[in-house]
Amino acid sequence: MAHQDVVPIAPGSETQWHAGPFSGEIRDGFIWGRGAWDDKGNLMAILEAVESLASTGFKPQRTVYLCFGHDEENGGEEGAKAIASLFGERGIRPEFVLDEGLLIAEGILPGLEPPVALIGVAEKGSATLKLTATAQPGHSSMPGSRSAIGSLAAALHRLEQAPFAAAVDGPAAEMFDTLVPEMHGVNRVALSNLWLFGPLVRWQLARAPSTNALLRTTTAITVIRGGNKENVLPEVAEALVNFRLLPGDTVSRVVAHTRSVIDDPAIRIDVLPQSSEASPVASENSSAYQLIARTVRELFPGVVVAPGLMIGGTDSRHMIALADNVYRFSPVRARAEDLARFHGTDERISVDNYVELIRFYQTLLRHAAGG
Ligand SMILES: [Zn+2]
Repeated sequence: MAHQDVVPIAPGSETQWHAGPFSGEIRDGFIWGRGAWDDKGNLMAILEAVESLASTGFKPQRTVYLCFGHDEENGGEEGAKAIASLFGERGIRPEFVLDEGLLIAEGILPGLEPPVALIGVAEKGSATLKLTATAQPGHSSMPGSRSAIGSLAAALHRLEQAPFAAAVDGPAAEMFDTLVPEMHGVNRVALSNLWLFGPLVRWQLARAPSTNALLRTTTAITVIRGGNKENVLPEVAEALVNFRLLPGDTVSRVVAHTRSVIDDPAIRIDVLPQSSEASPVASENSSAYQLIARTVRELFPGVVVAPGLMIGGTDSRHMIALADNVYRFSPVRARAEDLARFHGTDERISVDNYVELIRFYQTLLRHAAGG
C-alpha cells in the first residue's frame, strides 16, 4: 500500500525550501519535494519494482494487490476504505498487508549504535472530543458566579493534569525486548531490569514527547472557542481535545476518563466523527513478519530489526477487518534531526535511499510471491 495524496506546505514557507516544494528536483544527491517521503517515495518505488520485475519475465505465483488510496491524509474514506470494502465484497483475505509507517531510524535511543528497522505491528487510534460549556449569557457588568469560559478552562486544566497512566508494555515492550541486547551503557542496564528500574525508565521515557507517546494514550488540547466581545458573557464555550489511543484503550474508555476527570455534569462531551480505535497488535512471529524482517536483514546488513508502534495513522487500518497481519514499514532512512521534514519544510529522500526502496519491494515480492 501507498497513498498518492500529500499534505500542503505551510503557507509562506516556499522560500525556505532548498528546491521548489513541488518540483521533484534532484540536487546534491536528494530528490526534493513534498511527498518525497510521505508517501510518493513508496508509491513510485513499488511501481518501479513491479515494472522492473515484469520486464524480466517475473510471474508472481500468488496474487499481489497494489492499493494506492488518494485521500489518506484526510482519513482514507474514499480511497483505502473503499478498496477494503470491495475486497470484503469479493471475499479477499490477504495473508498480509504492508503499508507506509515506521522506518530505518538512526540515533533514536542513547546507547544504541546500529540503525533500527522498526516494523509497525500496531498503530494508535485517534479520537477527538468536543467539550461544550454553557452559562447564562448577559452583560459583563453583572456577571454570575460561573461563566462558560471559566468552567471550560477549569475542565481543560483538570484534564491536562490527569494524563493516562504510562506503561512499558505491548508493542513498546516488544521493541525494547528486541533492542536491549544491542544496547550498551546505562540504558541497557535499566531497560533489562524493568522490575527494578521501571519507574525510573517510565519517568525518563515520559519526558520526551516522542517516547512518551509510546507509553500512554496522549491528551492534546488543540482548539478553544468562546466569546467575541469584551463586554458580553458568551452562552457557549467549546474546546477540542485530541487523544491518541494506545492499543488496548478504547474511545469509550477515553470518554469515561474525560467525564470522571472533568467531574462537571454541566459540560457536554461529544465524540467527533472520524474517530478511530487503536489497531490490534499484529504478531511478530507470523511468517509474514519474518519475511519482511528477512528481506530487511538481507538488504541492510547490520541493521537491527524490531517491532514498533506507529504513532500516527495509516490507510492500513482500513484493512484490519480483512487481515490479521498488517504491518507498517518501509526502508526510508531517517535520523532524529530529519523527522521535522515529515509534513514539514525540505522534505527529501536521497537518491541512494530511493534505490534501496525499489530493491526492497523487488526482493520482498520475489520472496513473497516468487516460484
Ligand atoms: Zn503518509
